[in-house]
Amino acid sequence: MIEIVNVSKWYGNFQVLKDCTTSVAKGEVVVICGPSGSGKSTLIKCVNALEEFQQGSITVDGTSVGDPRTDLPELRARVGMVFQNFELFPHLSILDNLTIAQEKVLGRKRDAAVKKAEQLLERVGLSAHAKKYPLQLSGGQQQRVAIARALAMDPIAMLFDEPTSALDPEMVSEVLDVMVTLAREGMTMMCVTHEMGFARQVASRVIFIDRGEIVDDRPPEQFFGNERSPRAEQFLSKIL
Ligand code: ADP
Ligand code: MG
Repeated sequence: MIEIVNVSKWYGNFQVLKDCTTSVAKGEVVVICGPSGSGKSTLIKCVNALEEFQQGSITVDGTSVGDPRTDLPELRARVGMVFQNFELFPHLSILDNLTIAQEKVLGRKRDAAVKKAEQLLERVGLSAHAKKYPLQLSGGQQQRVAIARALAMDPIAMLFDEPTSALDPEMVSEVLDVMVTLAREGMTMMCVTHEMGFARQVASRVIFIDRGEIVDDRPPEQFFGNERSPRAEQFLSKIL
């Protein structure tokens, strides 16, 4: 579903991604971890063309992201993204946060968009909050809205960038529960997260990235067993 081949990226003279190669098959859940500033966000932003890269190739469901002929808005509509800070539209109700792109990007009729939004709000346990505005909800609730909003577009894959790291500790599990359910239902996912419990539970593979390089890319049994790199070892000893 997602193929990343020899991708390198520079910000000016600074090389942020170094010859990164990996892939995510349909239904796989890949967890990406690594030190702050190592290029995790940059890598997943390259997948839905929120960032450009200078070398290598990325294809999503057969569509080449770097090809100038690719319809980027269409690509972004098909790949859901959830950010650390939710990034909901503050001036729209929760319901309208979930319907706006369905109507404006996918051209769905209002009725169909509302129906889909209501189903998804029910699924993330927020039906009672449809008429509220984002800032009236807790961080955990806002993040569940953000996930529901991404799912409203019927994405072929979901990208998560540290979805729980801005949350108060007691709200982390309500968001992870939604992600675990999604993973078990077979959603293709790339998740930047340091929630190693989540990784152990649902990851197909764990990628460890350090200074722009993919240093480890292995199944969780290996990564959490004794087969990780010394650099990953050092990192894990700091976060666990
Ligand atoms: P991570 O998500 O792993 O913390 P990022 O992908 O956000 O890392 O950033 C990787 C590196 O690239 C960092 O050193 C960061 O300072 C740098 N960087 C990120 N965005 C930009 C930018 N727009 N311009 C210049 N440097 C950037
Ligand atoms: Mg980041």
